Amino acid sequence: MPGSGYCWTVLTWPAPQIPELPGRGDVVRVHDSSTGRLVVASQGPSASLYVCGITPYDATHIGHAATYVAFDLLGRAWRDAGQHVTYASNVTDVDDPLLERATATGVDWRDLAVEQTALFAEDMTALGVIPPDVYLGAVETIPPVAAAVEELVAAGAAYRVPLEDGAGGDAPELGDVYADVTADSAFGQVSRLDEATMLELFAERGGDPERAGKRNALDPLLWRRERPGEPAWAAGSLGTGRPGWHIECAVIARAGLGLPFDVQGGGSDLLFPHHEMSTSHARLIGDGEVHGAGAATHVHAGLVAYQGEKMSKSRGNLVFVSRLRAEGVEPMAIRLALLAHHYRSDWEWTDASLTEGVQRFETWRSAVSGNGGPDADATLAEVRAALADDLDAPRALAAVDRWAELSLAGTAEPVEGAPGVISRAVNALLGVRL
Ligand code: ZN
Repeated sequence: MPGSGYCWTVLTWPAPQIPELPGRGDVVRVHDSSTGRLVVASQGPSASLYVCGITPYDATHIGHAATYVAFDLLGRAWRDAGQHVTYASNVTDVDDPLLERATATGVDWRDLAVEQTALFAEDMTALGVIPPDVYLGAVETIPPVAAAVEELVAAGAAYRVPLEDGAGGDAPELGDVYADVTADSAFGQVSRLDEATMLELFAERGGDPERAGKRNALDPLLWRRERPGEPAWAAGSLGTGRPGWHIECAVIARAGLGLPFDVQGGGSDLLFPHHEMSTSHARLIGDGEVHGAGAATHVHAGLVAYQGEKMSKSRGNLVFVSRLRAEGVEPMAIRLALLAHHYRSDWEWTDASLTEGVQRFETWRSAVSGNGGPDADATLAEVRAALADDLDAPRALAAVDRWAELSLAGTAEPVEGAPGVISRAVNALLGVRL
């Protein structure tokens, strides 16, 4: 399928309403994966966030949802602290796993990508996740990605690797393009792993350390030339093909946020190689005059297990948000079940997780149903302090639980309007509509 030329625009979803709250939130600190320290990732009037998006070949599972809800909290905490937030994300709507799934199920890969991207948007809407301001797909970003790869080749930071027979369409002499990790003296500073660990993770997570003709085993793919039966796009001197994953995120982050930006986020399994590689590419492609930086801070969400193992597509032990919704589960109860775990912890989803989420939702909803209730000021301050301290959602939930308990007991001196303050705070800060 040379020069497929297929292009579509990935669509974002409706923004939830964010109620106004009295006062201001605290300065937000988050855990920097590179240094292991709590840092103020963004100072000043604006904050920028890039969260790696989905590869749309399967619906949103609870592990994905936990990641996007975690970074949604960060955006909400920044906004509450008075910062203007710009959020960018991507959809990897052409990639090996997507094509493999399409082939295996006999579905056109384009239909699969479009359908699953739409389902993801529905799940995010239901979960009250604020949509990205800049949301781009890999397919619609091919021209700037190809230009960035050409730039890296011209700078000597990328090189061609010869193809196997039958690959490369009309120009088999043009090889796949790989980045030379030794061209970036700061390579390795995001994950700070030793080389043996890097090699192991690279092989485990989509890399190809054994590919013949590479300069270094860790060099990542930038441009994959056309292969029989695979979609490909014309790209000037590179020859027909499609982009690698890491360069896609580097270019979309640059397009949406400029370089450098404040926080790059994702699940902890993206730390290496994905974030190490995309940051390295961002350093080398720069932003016009600015060279030398990608994301300033890397923040990672823990992984969610189910039935004793990490929830993953390859293992097939997935709990889908859309399936829970179809069963009639209140989406806000799902969100509360996610928020009951600190974003950085690895945890296991069980039936009890959902039962607790449903109970908490019902308790909170009845606690805010009256005109008067216990004073809300201290609770609002506690929720703000918890979120500013590395997005400690479980602590924030506990503060609201205490208020709800007092409210339902009816023993505190009632303050008019207090339930409304709690309801708006829970909505604005935790994204939970009661
Ligand atoms: Zn990414």
